[in-house]
Amino acid sequence: MLIATKKWQKKNPEKVKIAREKYDKQNPGWKNKYYQENQERLLRKNYERTQKLRRQVLEHYSGKPSKCKLCSYDKIECLDLDHIQGGGNKLRKENPRFNYYSWWKWIINNNYPKGFQVLCRNCNWLKHINNLKLLKYGRKKISF
Ligand SMILES: [Zn+2]
Repeated sequence: MLIATKKWQKKNPEKVKIAREKYDKQNPGWKNKYYQENQERLLRKNYERTQKLRRQVLEHYSGKPSKCKLCSYDKIECLDLDHIQGGGNKLRKENPRFNYYSWWKWIINNNYPKGFQVLCRNCNWLKHINNLKLLKYGRKKISF
């Protein structure tokens, strides 16, 4: 079997597609078998790949090392990206195929759009609660 290089594969996407379809037909169920045999390694690789992007995005918005804009909490596991003016649901509706990885990839591919900040989960929740209270009493949403 001829082993194609990544460079060759990029230059010949149609040939790659045909070869993959042929291989799929000749080896039904190979993907499931491969996934089952390599599940732990694949999950770890996926997790590490996502965390790398996440760290890159958080550092872009809050500096290195990343920290919450409001309270300066810096445990990266508890930090997240916040839409300053809200709009997260709208963005998710516009991009129904977002998953955790593609979300971070989208930020990078869109050249780190404005309107985001890094908040810890506590501050993010407090902002959410305060907005709910303000909305309940008919006042304008806050952003901090
Ligand atoms: Zn905070």
